[in-house]
Amino acid sequence: MAASLSSLSSIINQPHRALGIKFPKRCSFGLRLLPHKPQSISYCRYHLTSRPLKSTFSLNFSRSFSLSHSSKSETPSLRHFIAQAAVTSSETQSDPTPISETLPRSRIYHETYGCQMNINDMEIVLSIMKKAGYGEVVEVPESAEIIFINTCAIRDNAEQRVWQRLNYFWFLKRHWKSNVSIGRSQSLRPPKVVVLGCMAERLKDKILDADKMVDVVCGPDAYRDLPRLLEEVDYGQKGINTLLSLEETYADISPVRISKNSIAAFVSVMRGCNNMCSFCIVPFTRGRERSRSVESIVREVAELWKEGVKEVTLLGQNVNSYNDSSGAEKDVESGANWKFSEGFSSMSKVKNMGLRFADLLDELATEFPEMRFRYTSPHPKDFPDELLYVMRDRYNICKSIHLPAQTGSSTVLERMRRGYTREAYLDLVQKIRRIIPDVGLSSDFICGFCGETEEEHKDTLSLVKAVGYDMAYMFAYSMREKTHAHRNYIDDVPDAVKQRRLTELIDAFRESTGQCFDSQIGTIQLVLVEGPNKRAPDTELIGKSDRGHRVSFTNLPVPERDDYDGMRNPRVGDFVEVRISKSTRASLFGEALAITKLSSFYNSVHDEDVACANRN
Ligand code: SF4
Repeated sequence: MAASLSSLSSIINQPHRALGIKFPKRCSFGLRLLPHKPQSISYCRYHLTSRPLKSTFSLNFSRSFSLSHSSKSETPSLRHFIAQAAVTSSETQSDPTPISETLPRSRIYHETYGCQMNINDMEIVLSIMKKAGYGEVVEVPESAEIIFINTCAIRDNAEQRVWQRLNYFWFLKRHWKSNVSIGRSQSLRPPKVVVLGCMAERLKDKILDADKMVDVVCGPDAYRDLPRLLEEVDYGQKGINTLLSLEETYADISPVRISKNSIAAFVSVMRGCNNMCSFCIVPFTRGRERSRSVESIVREVAELWKEGVKEVTLLGQNVNSYNDSSGAEKDVESGANWKFSEGFSSMSKVKNMGLRFADLLDELATEFPEMRFRYTSPHPKDFPDELLYVMRDRYNICKSIHLPAQTGSSTVLERMRRGYTREAYLDLVQKIRRIIPDVGLSSDFICGFCGETEEEHKDTLSLVKAVGYDMAYMFAYSMREKTHAHRNYIDDVPDAVKQRRLTELIDAFRESTGQCFDSQIGTIQLVLVEGPNKRAPDTELIGKSDRGHRVSFTNLPVPERDDYDGMRNPRVGDFVEVRISKSTRASLFGEALAITKLSSFYNSVHDEDVACANRN
């Protein structure tokens, strides 16, 4: 027994482990491990639970960390313990099969709300589950034994939608027998309902307490723990792990791709946000910034390239604050050498500076010359000149920048704690357009933030007109608990005023974006074909241009640039030169000219530029 107990400490010193240990019925003891803070671990939690098994008494030890550093222990290793446990178990048990292995594996249904990052997280979850033996995914919740709902907490109505769905899932669970008897449900057992993502992080136990609707609550940094949390439910418990991590990036996990679009994919390159904008819940639900290594990202993109993916969007809550400090040799003075966009600042200081976003883009663009790259969502403060020059010089980095302004008023920007003024933002727009003349810009705006006056609102309308965006996400302000605004300001703009201002903003945006679309008429755009246009599936194809505009064109045979004899219809995944002939002010229509390669298209554009320059 002493040997076993010393070995237990070796399990406890292994991060992210859960282990069921069986002892003969006659052998029993009590042990309680209290939470404590071992060196180099910021938070640690142990559960010790007894589970009734057929002929054995089982102990389940599990732990989770907010930091994955484990202290180097002198105690016996996990392998040593497992060897010990195996000897004990073979000597004493006649039926060592765990309960979970006696049941058919559960089928998964999943639903995701919110941003693209959440979709990518669901792909990571599916990969973790697949590795744990849960490989089957079904299309409807009525056929599933496990239901995942990945949630968004950014606005109240996003949360309300999730609660509605949880009600339905609760109905499937609670009335499982009668649902099966009338053919509504085909699941083999009452489904386990699992809440993932930002709402899980924000509401934690509150969700579990809600009328037994939910079995497992798992925050965005704890997905590796899901198989264990689900097993807890088999023993009549609720599973919860909402610990945030300073290091988790899931860099070693190959996501299981959900999208039916085989030619475009998303790759998360960093997680979390250090900015603490006063309206935003994200830093509280997603934790501090951390980046994957360049090497692990290149590896994932190489896999996607082999699978036929032609366009990758790099993801992060503050993607251009990317900082791979894995190879950094020493700490630099806080904030030293970390360049922001001119005139921008940040409250958070960078401690350990490594490879920045421009380095990552440069590496990817060089390594994969026939693949197109986009990124979202950046912060305007992290556009040092180097990043703009890399975007200009690499033809396969799309000339499209999301530049969230949030408001056009300097006083509101200050209350929002955004770290810039209206003037600095407009200067940045000018600089971006000077360095990358054909760039498309998009933005985010919030209407009716705390204390917003009519004057401040008009500043936003005038900013929209002054910049001329290709696209924008616009919302009425919704106050979130925990944020700086919730603690310090009053949500004093009436809903009706917020809605009126939102309508005015949308009108101002429509006017200026229409001009952006119209200005494309007569140009030749390189379009990556995504599939048939749903409005005319037999005759038209649709895809995205470099600037991200949706372009449709008639599906007819065209020449292939790199094959002088060939004429064929464009296919999904082809890059097609399209001459734009019409604009609906929200999408473009044109005539296909040729099928080409990324490098060939931009080399020929470059050759033409040189020829024109020589003629002049
Ligand atoms: S930059 Fe600001 S708005 Fe964006 S995620 Fe971070 S805190 Fe939220």
